[in-house]
Amino acid sequence: MSTTERPRILVVGGGYVGLYAARRILKKMRYAEATVTVVDPRSYMTYQPFLPEAAAGSISPRHVVVPLRRVVRGAEVLTGRVTTIDQDRKVATIAPLVGEAYELPFDYLVISMGAVSRTFPIPGLAEQGIGMKGIEEAIGLRNHVLEQLDKADSTTDEEVRRKALTFVFVGGGFAGAETIGEVEDMARDAAKYYTNVSREDMRFVLVDAADKILPEVGPKLGQYGKEHLESRGIEIYLETSMDSCVDGHVVLKNGLEVDSNTIVWTAGVKPNPALSRFGLPLGPAATWTATRSSRSTAWTTSGPRATTPRSRTWRRSRPAFRRSAPGARRTPSTPCVRPRSSATTSWPACAASRRRTTATPTRARWPVSVCTRASP
Ligand SMILES: Cc1cc2nc3c(=O)[nH]c(=O)nc-3n(C[C@H](O)[C@H](O)[C@H](O)COP(=O)(O)OP(=O)(O)OC[C@H]3O[C@@H](n4cnc5c(N)ncnc54)[C@H](O)[C@@H]3O)c2cc1C
Repeated sequence: MSTTERPRILVVGGGYVGLYAARRILKKMRYAEATVTVVDPRSYMTYQPFLPEAAAGSISPRHVVVPLRRVVRGAEVLTGRVTTIDQDRKVATIAPLVGEAYELPFDYLVISMGAVSRTFPIPGLAEQGIGMKGIEEAIGLRNHVLEQLDKADSTTDEEVRRKALTFVFVGGGFAGAETIGEVEDMARDAAKYYTNVSREDMRFVLVDAADKILPEVGPKLGQYGKEHLESRGIEIYLETSMDSCVDGHVVLKNGLEVDSNTIVWTAGVKPNPALSRFGLPLGPAATWTATRSSRSTAWTTSGPRATTPRSRTWRRSRPAFRRSAPGARRTPSTPCVRPRSSATTSWPACAASRRRTTATPTRARWPVSVCTRASP
């Protein structure tokens, strides 16, 4: 661990946001100007949009994860969990993979701990539900689905067979819709290797409480996605939710009851509950509070209601973005020439204002596995 006297920027969480934040900070600061420390219980970032493909075996699991030590070179990467943050003393407590917890002082703090699955007290869900937030769950789901085909192929009990070949997905957002599409494709394709299981024997059910699926892509594309999944034989039940799933007996609000060994829970996320222990301002309004307060050293970016570092000085010195096509993902363009800002007060903004002012060609900054697919 570094024992330098340099200011330490502590990035809590090395997921999508944390990894990008650390890389950006490292890029903007001068050599050895500060120590950037990334703390995460995993030594890799998981590119979650690829999890459905990993669950179906379309891509290799190792293409879904990015080793932190490899891509945030120059940062100190600690594998452990941040359990508490004392903002007055500017000290975080780290529980490492092994051994005693210890305190780590910091000068600036970036919170990027992501979101966790949003669950409800539905009877049976805790025992039966399969999440889709990590690579372990994706691979587990693939193994589980193939195991169901094995079971169905080798049993003479029609009830056991039907239960094994029924797959229920709750939640029709990105995670649910993509995962059911991928898993259905994989399972029906795998059927050709089984003697007693055919494509038609399988039943896939997608349930969502809203009146549409894929709300993230807008009504037109969402409707297209729904029709496409239905054309593949996937049953979609909207405006209904799961009441219970005790022992795999799924009861929906609309009265439908099915037996299934596979209940995939992708019904949304909520901010990491650990955040509430840190005493930081939460919610969208917190951004301004955090950047203006005397403790103006913390930025929180967590889950669906992310609050990001956007003080006025930060915004002024951000690199320019351009849209290459209508609706296309924001991509960083060549750094633009900007005058130095005299109003910079926080470290990142200071560093940003000192960056090169000559235009340089943009280079590819991501491993292929990450940049091959753009988020909408
Ligand atoms: C199946 C699926 C498909 C998706 N598809 C898309 C898509 O197509 N397009 C799109 O835009 N988005 C998609 N998303 C959403 C997108 O992946 C997330 O919005 C994004 O990963 C959020 O980034 P994050 O850094 O906030 O959180 P994460 O990437 O989840 O990172 C949080 C990190 O914090 C770490 N952490 C947690 N607690 C602690 C602690 N106490 N101490 C230290 N570290 C901690 C975690 O280990 C994790 O590494 C999808 C999500 C899923 C699950």
